[in-house]
Amino acid sequence: MNGKNLATEMNEDMQLMVDELKSKGITPGLAVLLVGENPASQTYVKNKEKRANSLGFYSIVEKYSEEISEKELLKEIHRFNEDDRIHGILVQLPLPKQINPESVLNAVNPEKDVDGFHPVNMGKLLIGEPDKIACTPYGIMKLLERYQIEIAGKTAVIIGRSNIVGKPMAQLLLMNDATVTIAHSKTNHLAEIARTADILVVAIGRGHFVTKEFIKPGSVVIDVGMNRDEKGKLIGDVKADEVAEIAGYLTPVPGGVGPMTITMLLFQTIISAQRTI
Ligand code: NAP
Repeated sequence: MNGKNLATEMNEDMQLMVDELKSKGITPGLAVLLVGENPASQTYVKNKEKRANSLGFYSIVEKYSEEISEKELLKEIHRFNEDDRIHGILVQLPLPKQINPESVLNAVNPEKDVDGFHPVNMGKLLIGEPDKIACTPYGIMKLLERYQIEIAGKTAVIIGRSNIVGKPMAQLLLMNDATVTIAHSKTNHLAEIARTADILVVAIGRGHFVTKEFIKPGSVVIDVGMNRDEKGKLIGDVKADEVAEIAGYLTPVPGGVGPMTITMLLFQTIISAQRTI
């Protein structure tokens, strides 16, 4: 399942949406707040900025020192909450230890929470009335839709229960009438449970953890993991070469879920901007 191609397709549609907004005097605005010098975060932020600029967004990347206090960072978020040119605010995680990530995520105006991490947006998703949705699971739903994967009545297993991937993913599949199991590090008989899945989503953060023993023949396997091997090469959580022989569909790493995450971030910013009309 090619996320890069779908991201390119969606980009064309989003360009039309941006052009239409601009013809009405509105430029979608995205503010990205980056604290410290984490190299992976810097790369993610650079990619987001590049994609936002290529669509003609009003794009701001604010960089703060590793030592910034929580109070100062919250003040910055409030500044962007008040700024009418900004329709989406993203605080790049992880944050340094003096800052409580929950306080920071809670401070973002839910209307501008294009990452979908605010408790209001998480709660709306949980009650089946989603507004802003966590971008990685949202991107996975777009991939499933694009490849016309039937979800209703299927058995879905998600390995990983993080707030940004596993939990919202489970809820989205449940809303679409899958029968959902969430597995995690304390799950017994993991491979056996995974083998029941028509749709298996793996979001663990351990390179090549999922082998062919985890796979039901013909199933859909979504690899969210982004890990570096000993040579520094980007690899997924799934041992792709052997799993590809059994699975019906598999997302590659890179070029699968990753490009869709940024796409959904930009998409949700455009939707926020549309609402200001
Ligand atoms: P996370 O917050 O560290 O959560 C990892 C989850 O995996 C936890 O729920 C953990 O279980 C579970 N887990 C860890 N070891 C396990 C094991 N041996 N067996 C079963 N479950 C295990 O990670 P995350 O933020 O969800 O990210 C997961 C991966 O996806 C990472 O590689 C990350 O880089 C990648 N990611 C990619 C994108 C993208 O755009 N492609 C976006 C987000 C994340 P416990 O809860 O029991 O500890």
